Amino acid sequence: MIAPVASWNNYPRQVCTLHRPERYREFSPDVESAIARGLGRSYGDAALNDCGHVFLSERLNRISVFDPERGVLRAEAGVSLDDLLRVIVPRGWFLPVTPGTRFVSLGGAVASDVHGKNHHCDGSFGNYVNSIQLAIPGAGTIDCSPTANPETFWATVGGMGLTGFIGEVELHLRPISSAYVQARHYAATNLEELFRHFSDPDRDAPYTVAWIDCLSAGKRLGRGVLMAGHHAALDELPVEARAKPYDLPAGRALSVPVNLPAWVLNPTCVSLFNGAYFAAQARKRAPFIADYRSFFYPLDNISHWNRMYGTRGFVQYQCVIPQAGAFDAMRKLLERIASSRHASFLAVLKRMGPAGNGMLSFPMPGYTLALDLSLRDPDLFKLLDALDELVIQHGGRVYLAKDARLSAASFRRMYPRYEEWLTVKNKLDPQHRITSSLARRLDIGGAA
Ligand SMILES: Cc1cc2nc3c(=O)[nH]c(=O)nc-3n(C[C@H](O)[C@H](O)[C@H](O)COP(=O)(O)OP(=O)(O)OC[C@H]3O[C@@H](n4cnc5c(N)ncnc54)[C@H](O)[C@@H]3O)c2cc1C
Repeated sequence: MIAPVASWNNYPRQVCTLHRPERYREFSPDVESAIARGLGRSYGDAALNDCGHVFLSERLNRISVFDPERGVLRAEAGVSLDDLLRVIVPRGWFLPVTPGTRFVSLGGAVASDVHGKNHHCDGSFGNYVNSIQLAIPGAGTIDCSPTANPETFWATVGGMGLTGFIGEVELHLRPISSAYVQARHYAATNLEELFRHFSDPDRDAPYTVAWIDCLSAGKRLGRGVLMAGHHAALDELPVEARAKPYDLPAGRALSVPVNLPAWVLNPTCVSLFNGAYFAAQARKRAPFIADYRSFFYPLDNISHWNRMYGTRGFVQYQCVIPQAGAFDAMRKLLERIASSRHASFLAVLKRMGPAGNGMLSFPMPGYTLALDLSLRDPDLFKLLDALDELVIQHGGRVYLAKDARLSAASFRRMYPRYEEWLTVKNKLDPQHRITSSLARRLDIGGAA
């Protein structure tokens, strides 16, 4: 089927030939130019192939092995993290790393080497993958792991689907005593205080993330709320929940029914929202119990929330800055954004731990900032180009899974292991038949 396709942020929208294979062997056909696509939750063109072929993994969603004694699971790449959680949580296991939405595929989580609120403690998704089955058009299927074909493995983890089609993935899980998290919020009146919270051992927790009001400026620049939590032990649950610690309360589903007009997200509305949100979250000073869905996936409770940005869509700018210059760089980034009056109602700051082995993986030790920005502002890309320069000067990088507009030159300066990755790519796919719009825009692996 030939159709216009976009990913979560609705930009860009490109015409692709879509295939929906039922079996893994059909996932690796003999075509000139193809990319795999999971649940399309990346922001940008990583899962698009303008005028080329796109292979949807959604029907390759079988769980082949789950060992509840050891917490080891093997499943096809198209299974969603939501489906996995429904199977593993009632049996006392959780994902070792999870992004801020559970509606991503297992293959997408590997290809982006996703990180979660626990990156500062546990690293990224690839650290927990035991092995991957990889199909390369015209070259068959290979198995790889940190010990078997390790170069292929670490080029695939974080490789944005450009080394081949991921089939089955085996990973090891995290044991939990309940489906709940004990959470605690710490309000900060500005960026300095927020950084102090992040580095205060008394406020540290296995999971931490901060929401930032990126429209506040001056003395309140970077005001926000650090949200910390850990998987709740049985004795931390309310007495009535202890008998069935893995049962979840029935959720309320909200939805944004249609694309909203662009003016809804103007700076005044967002400023009002931010003020109210800050007050509400800052009020939660005492520890409280939250079910895992509302702690890890607050936005999943509002289906189609991406429609708030209207038909033109939005971009997410996510960068990471190494520890040493992180405060200084974040201050400058927030000053630029606040003074431009580009309203972002979703801005998140997070501490990151050691980098993994993925050659094109995003994380590095330091701080990452992520902002959603509406495409209603015509000069937005100029601002983001200037932010790229600042990020590069501080030794940081932009996240490819969230990117729709970075230049090839900036990509090269941000990803120093690119040449190493390219050597592996050239061996696996010398004709560069596996390609995407992102790959062509950033000149990753050459064009098909
Ligand atoms: C609300 C929200 C919150 C998010 N929070 C986080 C976060 O906290 N941390 C984080 O790291 N990311 C986060 N993300 C980004 C998201 O986790 C990644 O973009 C993830 O890769 C999306 O998975 P997907 O299945 O939707 O993949 P897609 O968007 O379909 O594809 C993403 C990439 O994976 C590749 N891919 C997918 N399936 C396969 C396969 N079977 N074989 C080979 N390659 C494949 C594609 O080619 C593409 O390059 C968030 C996204 C949203 C919408």
